[in-house]
Amino acid sequence: MTATGTTETTATRKGVDEAAPEALVVEDLRVYYDTPEGQVKAVDDVTFSLRQGERLALVGESGCGKSTLAMALLRLTRPPGHIVGGRVILDGVDLLTLEDSAMRGVRLSEIALVPQGAMNSLNPVMRVQGQITDGIIDHQTDGGKKQKDKDLAPRARQLLETVGLRSSVGRMYPHELSGGMKQRVAMSIATSLTPKIIIADEPTSALDVVVQRQIMQTLGRLQEGLEASVLLVGHDMGLVAQFADTIGVMYAGRLAEVGPVDGIFKDGKHPYTRMLIQSLPTLDEKREFVGIPGMPPTLLNLPSGCPFYPRCPNAMDICRNQTPLQQEVEPGRWTSCHLYGEDAS
Ligand code: SF4
Repeated sequence: MTATGTTETTATRKGVDEAAPEALVVEDLRVYYDTPEGQVKAVDDVTFSLRQGERLALVGESGCGKSTLAMALLRLTRPPGHIVGGRVILDGVDLLTLEDSAMRGVRLSEIALVPQGAMNSLNPVMRVQGQITDGIIDHQTDGGKKQKDKDLAPRARQLLETVGLRSSVGRMYPHELSGGMKQRVAMSIATSLTPKIIIADEPTSALDVVVQRQIMQTLGRLQEGLEASVLLVGHDMGLVAQFADTIGVMYAGRLAEVGPVDGIFKDGKHPYTRMLIQSLPTLDEKREFVGIPGMPPTLLNLPSGCPFYPRCPNAMDICRNQTPLQQEVEPGRWTSCHLYGEDAS
């Protein structure tokens, strides 16, 4: 985890509109990897929802399951990983039950991905415009009246301008673009069919801090223009704090806590959340960094009980044997910890 610049919550967002309908509901999602050493529970019993227009950021240490979760929502999990169970409900439809062809129609038009490392997601031997129009042709659901590549050229140029690029970039190849320009192209592809949900998997990795900020501003503008919801996978708490309405803290494949940005930063409920925030630098006060002792557990054959037990300063006997369930401890605040609810008595 890093905190570029500051952990101050300088966001100008007003927060989640509680009256907005739920755009995406994820229930008990489980994604496991079968390896020669055993089963890796990369995502286990994850439940959350995303309202229309909400920006939810998933944070946590490397290997905690953030990206695996994001890919599973799009049903892009690759072997040896597989979705073991759960539900991903969009517009009343469980995406996990759709035929592959129907799911293909949902991608880009309903739920789209801004991938990690646009460098690797673009075709190196194809001009940018063709990559945008290819996505539209492949995924549009217009009852069979598919538009031809040349018909879509004005749309591709408009999409490039929307993400802050000149329309002439459409004639270029990816190797002629900077990292930030490639990421903007990836955003233009992701929003080409005006999806309701945008999943951004570490969209600023490998970019310098100035470009990172510009990319996040562009993503925010796109989200507002489309009135879409964003699920951002991130590890930079400074960027996340400025972008998101809500933060989900993941640990060992589970959601440790979900809550509004200010609440998470100022009053973390889960011990892991509190220690994570304490380990970040701040401009407000000079203090020693406080690390989190120990290492995240291997996801192979996780023991029963709370996965944070070996590192937790508040651990109790019950934590060793009983996995804490996710519960709402305040309106809009969910945590998985025996310190709260009935277990606390
Ligand atoms: Fe710590 Fe127990 Fe809460 Fe886990 S359940 S975070 S070990 S207090």
